[in-house]
Amino acid sequence: MSDSSTYENPGAVSALSGTFQRMEGVNYRLFSPEVSNLESVFFVETDPARCQGCGKCQVQCPTGARHKQPDGTRDVVDPAACVNCGQCLTICPYRAIGEGTSYVPEVLEKLKDPNTVVVAMTAPAVRYALGECFGLPVGTYVGGKMHGALRRLGFDYIWDNEWAADVTVMEEGTELIERLHDGGTGDRPLPQFTSCCPGWIKFCETFYPDLIPHLSTCKSPVGMLGALAKTYGSEETGVVPENVYTVSIMPCIAKKYEGLRPELNASGQRDIDATINTRELAYLIKEAGIYFTALPDEEADPALGISTGAGTLFGTTGGVMEAALRFAYEALSDEVLSDLATTAVETGRGLTKVTVEVPGFGPVRGAVVSGLDKAAMVCEKVRAGRADYHFIEVMACPGGCVNGGGQPVDPSIMDASLFKKMVASVNKRFKMRRIA
Ligand code: SF4
Ligand code: SF4
Repeated sequence: MSDSSTYENPGAVSALSGTFQRMEGVNYRLFSPEVSNLESVFFVETDPARCQGCGKCQVQCPTGARHKQPDGTRDVVDPAACVNCGQCLTICPYRAIGEGTSYVPEVLEKLKDPNTVVVAMTAPAVRYALGECFGLPVGTYVGGKMHGALRRLGFDYIWDNEWAADVTVMEEGTELIERLHDGGTGDRPLPQFTSCCPGWIKFCETFYPDLIPHLSTCKSPVGMLGALAKTYGSEETGVVPENVYTVSIMPCIAKKYEGLRPELNASGQRDIDATINTRELAYLIKEAGIYFTALPDEEADPALGISTGAGTLFGTTGGVMEAALRFAYEALSDEVLSDLATTAVETGRGLTKVTVEVPGFGPVRGAVVSGLDKAAMVCEKVRAGRADYHFIEVMACPGGCVNGGGQPVDPSIMDASLFKKMVASVNKRFKMRRIA
């Protein structure tokens, strides 16, 4: 798939044809979907000319969405079965899989428009991976430089998603306490599942709809931030919501689907106008000629940008669990939980079980699930009434958001002759990319 390729995905609706732009080694269809066509959009697309039919993506896909075509290539035939996690894209050794959407042209237009106030809403995990696109070691924290780059790109406000993650911790923690007090009865059963990962939410809705009452009723952090930006944020800045354009900046492809959900309209209009990921942000910075590594460190804007730092935990697996359990522990017992890590009672690959003894209440049991194959296993247990947990965190991507489908892809994947080296490299990065 060349930069100017105009191949058509035979399964995609014709309205989605368009030009492509290569960004950080991945091809993107320059297409800004609308809420009305959400269910027909292919968020990942295969270029049949590049696909070698190795089947690696089919093995990696947790939902069975990728099918073998008559010519041996693999593709998604029904967008309903794809949860947009992007794990197929990151594993393809031939870079045959790209993204079916990109708001980059629309964002550039809005940045130039003097009548539009453009708000950047940045996720925690982006700032730990963006540096890789500029030659910095894996895991380098570049939050301050990212803020500097966003200002130089013309963003009017930077409202940090970590602030919204703090709000989520309070909301999810409060909901957990209420469910615990009610004993999981009525329409709010236990265990309570986390609701911040959009790949997991679509997975639950599609494959385990009977478990939807177990999902926390909280929006994801950026779901909350988009609404707050166009209500509280509008009031604070004196800009009418109609002139605010919110850009969610995520490590993820599934967040593009989430941003289009029709229910995210608490402000009376779309709460999230556009979603781009780490690779697209790196592309914007490079295209603008910004010398990223030389930028001074800058802060996010204060109106919605100050956080406790606990929200950073959202970027890696186990983080939501830790933050929410800590909140629930302190609310239930009036005591401070010193070290949650010491209470982990069993750890397995992709599944960690945690028990916290809460004074005056008793044990609160949690599980941290990373990867949708493990999530399916846990869902089966919950469905069968055999899951003895109060709270379950699920992240669709192995290791959590830091390894999301929108994060930088290892350049060695470009060279198919280095296949084994590539697999080792990806595995190494999965292990290395941790939030300190
Ligand atoms: S991993 Fe890439 S090359 Fe292999 S079948 Fe999937 S799309 Fe084709
Ligand atoms: S994005 Fe995820 S669910 Fe969709 S085809 Fe790729 S691996 Fe499967």
